[in-house]
Amino acid sequence: MAEQVLAAVRTGPGRTELREFPVPDIPDDGALLKVEVAGICGTDVKMYAKPPFAAPVIMGHENIGVIARAGRTFAARHGVREGDRVFVEHYVGCFQCDWCRAGEYRHCELTDWRTNPDARRYGYTSADNPYHLWGGFARYMYLPWNAVLHKVPDGVSPELAGLATPVSNGIEWAVFAAGVGYDSTVLIQGPGQQGLSQAVACKQAGASQIIVTGTTRDVARLAMARKLGADHVIDVQAEDPLERVMEITGGKGVDIVLDCTSGAGTAPVLLGVDALKRREGTLLIQGELAAFPDFPVKKVTEKAITIKSARGHSFRACELAVKQLASGRFPLDLLATHAFGLGDVDRAISLLGGARPDEDVIHVSLLPWQA
Ligand SMILES: [Zn+2]
Ligand SMILES: [Zn+2]
Repeated sequence: MAEQVLAAVRTGPGRTELREFPVPDIPDDGALLKVEVAGICGTDVKMYAKPPFAAPVIMGHENIGVIARAGRTFAARHGVREGDRVFVEHYVGCFQCDWCRAGEYRHCELTDWRTNPDARRYGYTSADNPYHLWGGFARYMYLPWNAVLHKVPDGVSPELAGLATPVSNGIEWAVFAAGVGYDSTVLIQGPGQQGLSQAVACKQAGASQIIVTGTTRDVARLAMARKLGADHVIDVQAEDPLERVMEITGGKGVDIVLDCTSGAGTAPVLLGVDALKRREGTLLIQGELAAFPDFPVKKVTEKAITIKSARGHSFRACELAVKQLASGRFPLDLLATHAFGLGDVDRAISLLGGARPDEDVIHVSLLPWQA
C-alpha cells in the first residue's frame, strides 16, 4: 500500500485541490476502506458552492468500497473481512444517546454538523481532524468503530452499489415517511436521481398510480421514469399539471405527493397541496426555501394534510436499497449516467449542478482511482 493517500479537498467555495495525507495507523477497532465509487448528489452542489464552514473538507458522502485493512475488533464487531465490499453510510453516531439506541443514529448529535462543530459525518468533517480521511473523494477512507456498513452482495457492481443512497432515500421518504403502499396514488415532482428512486420505491411498495412531473428539458428523464415504474409523466411547461393529475385520478387527487424538485421555488408545494385528495393526504417536502410567503395554511388545514420532511435514511432503508439493487427487478443501472476521476471533482459537481443543460445527467459518480 502507498504511504500517502491522494484526496480531492474542498478548500473554499467552488475550489478543490488535490492533496496527500498519510495512511492512518489503524487502531484495533478501526478499518481502512479502499474507495471505489463516491456518488454525488444535489447536496454536494450546494455544499460546494457555499461551504458551511471554512475548514478543508474531503467531500463525498455516498461511498462504496472494499475493506482494505481492518483491526481485529472492528472485523469482529461489524462481521466483515478484508476484501468485503460495503456501502458506508455518511452518519457516524455515538451509539449511546436515545436516538442511536432507537436505531435512528441519523439524528444523533455526534453526526449533526449543523449543531455540533465537532461532528463526524463523511463528506462534511474537516480533514484537519485525526485520521483526516473523512470523505469519499479520496482513494482511502478511515472507518472508526462507529461507522455504519452494509455489505454489498456478490454480483452487484460498485457502480450499481453507488446508487444505494438515492435508492435508500426513495424507500425512506416514500414508504416509511409518507406511507406509500398497496394501491396508493402518488405524485412525484422532479425526475432527477431522487425522484426516479422514489418511483422505484413506490412501484415496489404497491402503488397503483405513479405520476412523475418534469420540465420540457427533462424529456429523457421522464422517459426513464416510465421505464422505472411511472404510469404517467407530465411536462409542467407543456401541460397544466393539476388538470392532468385530476384527469388521471378521476377528479379525486392523489394520496401522497413527494417533492423532489430543486430550485423550483414555492410552485411544487402549492401544486402538491392542490393535487392531494380531498382529505388526509400526505405531502413530503424538502426545505429549500428559508421562508414561504403566502403559505396556504387554511387550505392545508381544511384538507387535513399531513406534512412530512425528507430527512436522510435509516439502517433498514439502506438494507432494502441494497437488496433492491441486487434484485435486478428495475433497470436501475440506467440512472448511473456519468463518472469522473479524482482530478475532475469540480467538473463532476458542476455537471450535476446543471452546467450543461442539454446533457441528460441523472447520477454522477466519482471514481477516486481514476486520474
Ligand atoms: Zn447525497
Ligand atoms: Zn447518538
